[in-house]
Amino acid sequence: MNRRIGHDVAIVGAGMVGAALALNLARAGFDVVVVEPRPPPPWRAEDEIDLRVVALAPSSVDLLGRLDVWASISAARACPYRHMQVWDALAPGQLRFDAADQGIAALGHIVENRLIQHMLWRALEADPHIALRCPAQVTATETDDDRRTLVLADDSRIAARLVVAADGADSALRTLAGIGTSDRDYAQRAIVAHVATERPHEDTAWQRFLPGATLAFLPLSDGRSSIVWSVPETEASRLLALDDSAFRAELGAAFDFRLGIILATTARAAFPLRLKLAERYLAPRLTLIGDAAHVVHPLAGQGVNLGLRDANELAGVLVEARDSKRDFAGGAALRQFERRRRSDNALSAHAFDTIQRVFASEAMPLAALRGAALTVVDRIGPLKRLFADHAAGR
Ligand SMILES: Cc1cc2nc3c(=O)[nH]c(=O)nc-3n(C[C@H](O)[C@H](O)[C@H](O)COP(=O)(O)OP(=O)(O)OC[C@H]3O[C@@H](n4cnc5c(N)ncnc54)[C@H](O)[C@@H]3O)c2cc1C
Repeated sequence: MNRRIGHDVAIVGAGMVGAALALNLARAGFDVVVVEPRPPPPWRAEDEIDLRVVALAPSSVDLLGRLDVWASISAARACPYRHMQVWDALAPGQLRFDAADQGIAALGHIVENRLIQHMLWRALEADPHIALRCPAQVTATETDDDRRTLVLADDSRIAARLVVAADGADSALRTLAGIGTSDRDYAQRAIVAHVATERPHEDTAWQRFLPGATLAFLPLSDGRSSIVWSVPETEASRLLALDDSAFRAELGAAFDFRLGIILATTARAAFPLRLKLAERYLAPRLTLIGDAAHVVHPLAGQGVNLGLRDANELAGVLVEARDSKRDFAGGAALRQFERRRRSDNALSAHAFDTIQRVFASEAMPLAALRGAALTVVDRIGPLKRLFADHAAGR
C-alpha cells in the first residue's frame, strides 16, 4: 500500500460486478480495498436452486474463467443453453439462434446469482492484494488532487487514488458524488419461479412476446425451467395472488404450451422493473460500473453481462495507463473507459427499451410490425449475426 495516498483502488459494492473488478485488478498487481455492507448468503449444493438466476453470455463466462472462478461455478451448478427461440403471440414469425451456427459450444449459461457471488467472494477473501471491509458502509466522500476519501459509518476513512461505485441500482455513492440519473418506471414487475414442464427444455432459452408482457423460460440443470414473466403491475398482483394450480394453468397458456403443461411450480417472487441511466459515469477520482451506472429491462437478460463488460474494460484501461506510467486514475484513462462503455450501455438500454415499447403496444400498426420484425431478423443473415454477436458480448 502506498503510505501517502492509501490504496490504488477502492471498490464500493461486492456484487457480481464489483467483485469481478476487484479480482481483475488485484491479479494485475493493484492494491485494492472492497467495501461491502453484508457478505453474500452462502451457496450450498444441497439447497434448492435459488430463484434469482442470470443468463451469462460467453463474454461473461470468459471473464470469470480468466479470474479462475468459472471452473468452480460450472462444476457446482450451471446449465448451458445451445439454442434460443423468440416468438410472438400476436403475429407469425420467429427468431432462432443455434450455438452450432456460431461455432460455439453454448450461447450462454443459466447460473444462480448466489452461486456466482459465493465463488467470487471466496476468491476475494483468498486474495492477498484485496482488503475486505465488511460489514461497512460509506456515509460521505471527499476528494483532492490525487485521491478520494471515503468516510465509513464507524467514522474510519479509506483513501484511494480511484474509487469505483459498484453498489447497485440505488447506488448511495453515485448520489454522494452528485451524479444524477434519467429514469423510466416500466410500471411492470418481473415474476420469477422455477417450474417443471411436461416435456424437457431442450437446452433452449425461450422467449415469448405477449400483449403488454414478455415471458422467458430459461433451462435449469435439473431439467426444470426458470421463468421471468414481465407483466404490468396490476396483472402481476393478480398472478401473484393465484393459487399454484391456477398459476400453472395461466403460465402454460401464456407459453403456448411449448413444453406441454406446467406440472409444478416453486413459490414466486417479483421485482419492479425500471430503466435507470447515470447522466455521466465520472466524478473526480470516481467512476460508476454495473447497475450503479445502468439498469436495463431484463427482457434480453443482459444486465450483469453489461456490468461485467464494464469491469473488464475498466481494468483494461487502468492497467494500460499504469503500464505506460500515466496516472491511471487521472481524467484521460477514465474518459476512455466512459466513452467506450457508456455508448455501448446506452445503445443496449435503448434497444431493449424500444423492443419493450413495440411489444407492449397493442396498437395495430405496431402489432403488424412485430412478426415482420422477427421474420426479417431471422432471414437476414448479417442482421441476425449482429444480434447474436451482441448477445454473446462480441
Ligand atoms: C428479474 C430479473 C432478471 C434478470 N436476469 C438477468 C439475466 O438473465 N442476465 C443478466 O445479465 N442480468 C439479469 N438481470 C440483471 C442483474 O441481476 C443485475 O444487472 C446485476 O445483479 C447487477 O450487478 P451489480 O453487481 O452491478 O449490482 P448488485 O447485484 O445490486 O450488487 C451491488 C452490491 O453493492 C452492495 N451495496 C449496496 N449498497 C451499498 C452501499 N451503500 N455501500 C457499499 N455496498 C453497497 C450490495 O450489498 C451488493 O453486494 C436481471 C434482473 C432482474 C430484476
